[in-house]
Amino acid sequence: MQYNLVNYHSHCDFCDGRAPMEAFVEAAIARGMNAYGISSHTESPEPGRTLRRDTYAAYFAEIARLREKYKRQIELYAALEIDYIDEERNAVSPMYSKMPLDYTIGSIHFIPAPDGGWMSVDGAYDGFRERLGARFGNDVRTVVELFYEQSRKMVATGGFTICGHADKIALNASCFAPDITSEPWYEELAYRHLSSLAGKDFLVEVNTKAWEQHHRLFPSVEWFPLLRRLGLKLVVNSDCHYPERVDSGRFQALQLLRQVGIERVWELHAGRWAAVPICV
Ligand SMILES: [Zn+2]
Ligand SMILES: [Zn+2]
Repeated sequence: MQYNLVNYHSHCDFCDGRAPMEAFVEAAIARGMNAYGISSHTESPEPGRTLRRDTYAAYFAEIARLREKYKRQIELYAALEIDYIDEERNAVSPMYSKMPLDYTIGSIHFIPAPDGGWMSVDGAYDGFRERLGARFGNDVRTVVELFYEQSRKMVATGGFTICGHADKIALNASCFAPDITSEPWYEELAYRHLSSLAGKDFLVEVNTKAWEQHHRLFPSVEWFPLLRRLGLKLVVNSDCHYPERVDSGRFQALQLLRQVGIERVWELHAGRWAAVPICV
């Protein structure tokens, strides 16, 4: 089997992905991928396109149908991208233990806002910019600090297989304040968080979603030497929302990992996670 032809973080029209699940699977097969995981968003505190209590059954049924239909071409896995919101809403919630899941991704997209609600720090910059002004009076530092506080709580709570897009706030925060990620307080927060991922029982994602548009990875490439020193178990994922992006940035991310001396990434095959060589 050829390695590095995988992606375990993807969306589809069961959540905010822009095409039916089957279109993503067909795109993955067309790119020669041999393992692919579907990981729609779980319900979030703000109205959005996510799975809902009444759509989980259809979601898992569609994965099962496609797994059977394409079993000679690709390994298909059932997953979820689960938000850490608070003590009740997170990956250890009992509702997930009853689902036919192969693995889960734990991610932060929301922070508590001063108005008592929750604010998305994810998505396109225009929306972030508006929310930052309206709900945080443009206090971007507080937003970054809350993102890392949520990230800390998510790691402490655990319950997921892959830690999703660590340091994703870097993109929207840098659009607002271009040099923010080189400020000492920011570096300290990111350093502490990434360091806290070492020695845990979960894998850590290198997320390539923003590579094509912004030439950014999460965690950012500046942190790759630290990822190596920490010996994190890394998984490269595209977090695709469009079928044409199933493997977007994968090759570049693998090359950049190799350049800092990282020689292995983790893949799921035949239901087992294992370290495999980077072959690019
Ligand atoms: Zn995400
Ligand atoms: Zn995602």
